[in-house]
Amino acid sequence: MKHETIRACSIWRALDVVGDVAVLLILEQAFLGRHRFDDFVKQTGLARSVVSGRLAKLVEAGVLRKAAQRQAGYALTEKGRGLFPVALMILRWQHRWEPGERGFSVRLVHRGCGQAMEPVPHCAACQTEIDPRAVDWAPGPGLAQVTPVYTRRRQQTAAASAKRGNQTMVDSVIELFGDRWATLVVRACFTGIHRFDDIQRDTLMATNILSGRIEQLLAQRIIKAVPYSAHQDRFEYRLTEKGRDLYPVLLALLQWGDRWFADEQGPPLLLTHRNCGQPLGLQPKCSACAAGLDIRNTAFEL
Ligand SMILES: [Zn+2]
Ligand SMILES: [Zn+2]
Repeated sequence: MKHETIRACSIWRALDVVGDVAVLLILEQAFLGRHRFDDFVKQTGLARSVVSGRLAKLVEAGVLRKAAQRQAGYALTEKGRGLFPVALMILRWQHRWEPGERGFSVRLVHRGCGQAMEPVPHCAACQTEIDPRAVDWAPGPGLAQVTPVYTRRRQQTAAASAKRGNQTMVDSVIELFGDRWATLVVRACFTGIHRFDDIQRDTLMATNILSGRIEQLLAQRIIKAVPYSAHQDRFEYRLTEKGRDLYPVLLALLQWGDRWFADEQGPPLLLTHRNCGQPLGLQPKCSACAAGLDIRNTAFEL
């Protein structure tokens, strides 16, 4: 039988909601405390029609809700606040790898210790920092296969037009997670799939689209091409250190997907932390005082 489905892990399901450049920019503003339509337009640089369409989509998905008073705008729901670790891990990556790209930066302050800090991804069970090379992936009870529908969305246009003044609002991490195709290539690399044909089988992308995404990821230095035969003309794609550091973002998305989209069969993918042998859960911690971070004790400042 012809292989026509791909693994529908919780990352895939989460990206169905948030895997869009415009959505990521709007959610970032929501975490920065903005609520009103006009502020979303001004701060993201997106067209009004794009913002209004994405806000409607986020309300429908249960991530935002419209406040009772019209002028109060939109608020994050519990499901929306559940994306807090994703937002933290995206900021962590931006600060480490592309700090100057966007012309503005978000500072994180832990209210518990009062310090400016960076969030550090720890294992919730054994409290050590997570290294993606120490994580085993196995299919879980809820692993389903889906037939991917790769519609040409307007996200590339949204990415290109998102500007505030002369500043572009989009950097590699937003471009990547705003594009499910590119994210699937990175997911393949994290799960031990490295060769073009194997990635193509895992993602069912058309070969020209896959080539394009691989070129983009190479240009962003998220993956590197490594020859694997003596002839030097056959390549495998391996994550660079910069690419491997996207792991906490994927993990945070996976946990959010497990929490909100897994069915009664259980999670589609089981991650085990080799350091402690426990299921891997992400606990962001403060780099200054090592206390656990949550949405109430952390401030985002521009
Ligand atoms: Zn552990
Ligand atoms: Zn602290």
